[in-house]
Amino acid sequence: MSIAENITRIKGNLPPDVTLVAVSKTKPPTMVLEAYQAGQRIFGENYVQELVAKQQELPADIQWHFIGHLQSNKVKYIAPFVALIHGVDKESLLSAINKEAAKCNRKIACLLQVHIAQEETKFGLNELEVLGVLDNYIKGQYPNVVIQGLMGMASFTDDENLLDREFSGLKALFSQCKKQYALPEFTTLSMGMSGDYNLAVVHGSTMVRIGSSIFGSRV
Ligand SMILES: *Cc1c(COP(=O)(O)O)cnc(C)c1O
Repeated sequence: MSIAENITRIKGNLPPDVTLVAVSKTKPPTMVLEAYQAGQRIFGENYVQELVAKQQELPADIQWHFIGHLQSNKVKYIAPFVALIHGVDKESLLSAINKEAAKCNRKIACLLQVHIAQEETKFGLNELEVLGVLDNYIKGQYPNVVIQGLMGMASFTDDENLLDREFSGLKALFSQCKKQYALPEFTTLSMGMSGDYNLAVVHGSTMVRIGSSIFGSRV
């Protein structure tokens, strides 16, 4: 199936209020353009250099999301244009984003990445750390960032029970944060990828990050 057909099919499966991020990492700009011509405007990238190069060459109305692991010293390269940073996994990174956003005279939208998977390798904050960051945020410590919600990556597994537990755990934390801090901007729960997005949506995801089901597998 073509990229356009894949997007149409996936959008048809998603409730209308769930946002689709097309994950184009490692894929050439021509493929991004194909998705763009099918109406897709939100793209997710994992690598700073690749994101900067694509942003320069592709249409200006694309909203670029950074979904990978971000190092503080690289924030400056994407700060002028990035629409949403999904993987804020340390408070020091939030602080670096705040600083670079101020230099650009803008506010940068961020999601706090929560560690939900069994695997040790996946980055993220634990529940207490999330609450700690939000405490500092509501005190006004980060005036140039907007914390828009939470993001998580589930284990890479076919075990539906495990995925159920991981997604529902993240959803519960999301609901708790919404209730406890009552921030109007705290609206996004980014969870679900090609293999597990239907289940993530059942568990309350508002944003799915889909790569291989749109663009084909990566090498
Ligand atoms: C690569 C990636 C995705 C997309 O993965 P697919 O399985 O290709 O859909 C989603 N989220 C993150 C954080 C990724 O790194």
